[in-house]
Amino acid sequence: MIHRRLLQLAGVVVGPIALLALVSALVSACHVAGAVLTAAVLADLVGGDGAVVAPLLGALVGVVAVRSALLWLREVAAARFGIAIRTRLRGELLRRIASLGPAWAQGERSGAITHTVVDGVEALDAYYSRYLPQLLVTCVVPAAVTGWLFTVSVPAAAVLAVSVTCAVVVPRGWDARLLRTGRTRWRAYEKLAADYLEATQAIGVLRVFGAGKRTGDALAARGEELHGSTMTQLRVSLVESAVSALALHLGTVATIVVACAGVLGGGAPAASVLLFLLCARECFRPVLDLSAHWHVGYQGLGAVEGIDEILTASPAVADTGTRAEPARPGAGLVLRHVGFRYPNGAGVDDVSFVCPPGGITGIVGPSGAGKSTLARLVVRHADPRHGTIELDGTPITDYTLAALRASIGVVGQHTHLFHGTVAENLRLARPDATPEEVRAAAHVADALDFIEALPRGFDTELTENGARLSGGQRQRLAIARAVLAATPVLLLDEATSALDVDTEERVLTRLAEHCPGTTRIVIAHRESALRGADTIVTIESGRVAGTVAR
Ligand code: ADP
Repeated sequence: MIHRRLLQLAGVVVGPIALLALVSALVSACHVAGAVLTAAVLADLVGGDGAVVAPLLGALVGVVAVRSALLWLREVAAARFGIAIRTRLRGELLRRIASLGPAWAQGERSGAITHTVVDGVEALDAYYSRYLPQLLVTCVVPAAVTGWLFTVSVPAAAVLAVSVTCAVVVPRGWDARLLRTGRTRWRAYEKLAADYLEATQAIGVLRVFGAGKRTGDALAARGEELHGSTMTQLRVSLVESAVSALALHLGTVATIVVACAGVLGGGAPAASVLLFLLCARECFRPVLDLSAHWHVGYQGLGAVEGIDEILTASPAVADTGTRAEPARPGAGLVLRHVGFRYPNGAGVDDVSFVCPPGGITGIVGPSGAGKSTLARLVVRHADPRHGTIELDGTPITDYTLAALRASIGVVGQHTHLFHGTVAENLRLARPDATPEEVRAAAHVADALDFIEALPRGFDTELTENGARLSGGQRQRLAIARAVLAATPVLLLDEATSALDVDTEERVLTRLAEHCPGTTRIVIAHRESALRGADTIVTIESGRVAGTVAR
């Protein structure tokens, strides 16, 4: 099957595919040469004087040796290129995903994306490293051999040409159906994988509420569904093998019958029957190999939809700004009549306020008022529908995304820590930070004591998302990470909500001492988090309900 999207993606791996096709074509050439030599040996043994048998057999042995070497080379190359192909495909998809931004990749979709990029690309490996190179060989070799056989006997070659064409073309009638069943199966697989992941992560909750058995039964039912759709897909995909095998056997018999008729009619030499007998097999060999490779790679086709979604999605914000310089230290931020709506209608309207240079602006308001939405707009996870946001006197859309992100550091509500050491996590924005700078940042976030109490201090490996740390410890690491990034503007979105009041006070005081010129925007529920704020903006139902200067 040739799929437009998969071919488009093949553009990134065209070199390896062409090389594998070349080696496969040479293997096929050896097969054909072997067949021709065998036919010549048999013809000489049966109808000649046997004089050329020895040199022909010698040549045959040579061809077999070369073919073995080429087969070995093809396997090694396919395995090597398989790794390169997977890496490049994943690289290309991840580049696209990164440009689409976090708003696109969040929620339920993140599970599906992971599945596409990990399992989908894995399953597509055989499509690129085996199927496509073989497809190129199948387009060339049977046509070349049949074309040459036309010079031996036109009727027999014509029958052979029709049979090979049928073996390649007829199964294409099932392609659309195969793609449909493939998608159904992939969706069932995706859903099952996501449900297993969720159930494994929530095993404690399921136990507490006695829902383990019910969830287990639901998962088993999903497994059955997947089994059903896998069998349906398999049945459709076997059509290709069945049609190819039928065409091979019927085609070979018909070709030989016509070749024999030609000999009996006196129009062709007897040896031509041997030639057709052996070469017919070589015409079908690439087609059968193609079918075998298809069975290794067809499951990857289900991933096409996910890949298609990644390749066709357009980024939430366009990176068309030209200012590559980040904002100056302590830059001011101004929101003018900013309005934004999510697809469900929620959002913010006509929000205007000023975050003075080097000052602290507090944003308060009830849950769901739109505070985090404003934070997302400020860092351009999405663009407002109305109004403008200016940083350091320049609209944020005029900055390149890299410059904007180097200008505004964010500590969000949900802290994400990566699998790696504490120091690696803190150095996320500044991999070149010195150990002293890392320690200083940890001190500002009041994280130094607990980090040093960890088994290997800053070199302690954190498990996924810092699972063994408390919520407050994770928040403090996130603050330290942002302090180390040393951006001109720092946005804290409920960043101290998990800290007790004393620790919060220590962190805020140290922040004020360590980054005196940094413009800070603090989104918070607790009054204690807004200590030292110069301006407090209250947001209610997506609008500014009041601004108080203190
Ligand atoms: P706050 O931070 O003040 O608690 P948010 O800015 O997170 O509020 O949310 C404002 C409104 O937008 C809420 O009604 C919320 O349900 C909605 N909302 C937030 N994120 C999304 C989203 N990704 N898609 C749709 N609606 C959203």
